[in-house]
Amino acid sequence: MSIGRWDGAMLAALEEARAALATDDVPIGAVVLDPSGTPVGRGRNVREADHDPTGHAEVVALREAARARGEWRLDGHTLVVTLEPCTMCAGAAVLARVGRVVFGAWDPKAGAVGSLWDVVRDRRLNHRPEVVAGVLADESAALLEEFFAGHR
Ligand SMILES: [Zn+2]
Repeated sequence: MSIGRWDGAMLAALEEARAALATDDVPIGAVVLDPSGTPVGRGRNVREADHDPTGHAEVVALREAARARGEWRLDGHTLVVTLEPCTMCAGAAVLARVGRVVFGAWDPKAGAVGSLWDVVRDRRLNHRPEVVAGVLADESAALLEEFFAGHR
């Protein structure tokens, strides 16, 4: 088995996703890497934990990274997330000017990085991050399926 370039970061994001289960939040996790590949932000879905409709993993991780950097611009950074970002999070990635979005499973019901919309590669925007899709997608999808199976 070959180890992909983003597997390590995705494993860290999956670890965040699993931690969301403690508060009965949908298991989605994210990590932000600086241009050298060092993690500078982590986040998990905290909608239930924080009673926050915008408490998505990506937003939490981008905020932490920007705080750590002391700057809202995250040029050259990579947002790694276990599930394809929604419209809000795809928008947040563009606003943060990240250089790259890496995600695991596709979200055909709400995805905004190629599924329902493609917010990050809309030609009308002047900042368009690179996209890498499907990294450890099976692991990410299995975690979500397990969660929703337990909530039926
Ligand atoms: Zn989102």
